[in-house]
Amino acid sequence: MPFTGKEVHLVARPVGEPTTDDFAVREATVPDPGPGQVVVRNDWISVDPYMRGRMNDVKSYVPPFRLDRPMDGGAVGTVVASQADGVPAGAVVVHGLGWRDYALLPADSVRVVDASDVPASAYLGVLGMTGLTAYAGLTEVAPVREGDAVFISGAAGAVGLVAGTVAKKLGAARVIGSAGGPAKVAKLVEDFGYDAAIDYRAGDLPGQLAAAAPEGIDVYFDNVGGDHLQAAIGALRTHGRVALCGAIAQYNATEPAPGPNNLALAIGKRLTLRGFIVGDHQHLAGEYASKAAEWLRDGSLVAEQTEVVGIDNAVEAFLGLLRGANTGKMVVRVG
Ligand code: NDP
Repeated sequence: MPFTGKEVHLVARPVGEPTTDDFAVREATVPDPGPGQVVVRNDWISVDPYMRGRMNDVKSYVPPFRLDRPMDGGAVGTVVASQADGVPAGAVVVHGLGWRDYALLPADSVRVVDASDVPASAYLGVLGMTGLTAYAGLTEVAPVREGDAVFISGAAGAVGLVAGTVAKKLGAARVIGSAGGPAKVAKLVEDFGYDAAIDYRAGDLPGQLAAAAPEGIDVYFDNVGGDHLQAAIGALRTHGRVALCGAIAQYNATEPAPGPNNLALAIGKRLTLRGFIVGDHQHLAGEYASKAAEWLRDGSLVAEQTEVVGIDNAVEAFLGLLRGANTGKMVVRVG
């Protein structure tokens, strides 16, 4: 019996900030699985900042979304029909066909996960791609050493919250986060283990960073780019390291954004600035998964998420993510 549900299509390429008019929610029918295939009813779908880049028709490390086709992305769901050994009906699986209620997939493209002890949505956040991004950034890209001062932008988001915990676990003496607004800043210190936090919307980022890290910083984990990267370059000490993870401040830009005006400081300070993509660090996935599970159990890692309910509201969830409506991982509950 085929499965009928909804899926979200990109119908126009956004210019600047996307609007609801750039998307359409359409009915779709998924056939029964063929040999080696499964049908998954998605329970949770992920909305992520990198998807904004896929809405532009440009060559990148992931192909652009096609117009009038369902978008894709991370999802967790329950197998509702299977013609595959090892992935029975009832299994909870992680896969890449989000933005829809039902997905037909080859069984070898899904990963069965254990959702008995943790909420299944954690596999899109702390136990998923965003958690691994934080871990890879601070272990391999800009390694944190014992006693370091570490600055993390986008600190109240999915990657940022895990990065704060990872920095502490790696021996950082002081971890400073930046986020938008007083509520998020308070949460960083009170709930998420940051030593100090900066509200970038209050202005004077270099001054606030200097006050929070009077001796300077050794590592900067950059989720934002722009003024944050410039302030961090100013605050970095000799031999400082930067993990260039994201530049969300410019994802909606319609003109090329200017670079930091103090990049020449990288020479005298012997800085290392290194971009990375999490997919190149999959070899860390097992190591990170076991550490993250332990940290979740002992309470040092918090599986914070912001939930939006219903596939009809998935676009609003994505637009909200770009504006900072989330604390922790932004997820859409569709099941
Ligand atoms: P988040 O959960 O951090 O959500 C995005 C956040 O960005 C918002 O909550 C908002 O928080 C903040 N933001 C939006 N606009 C601005 C702005 N102009 N200046 C400062 N902050 C802004 O998303 P993720 O944790 O999923 O991703 C964080 C970053 O990591 C992104 O840049 C993303 O592209 C990147 N990334 C990179 C990966 C890689 O492999 N290199 C993999 C995964 C993510 P606030 O309220 O604080 O403004």
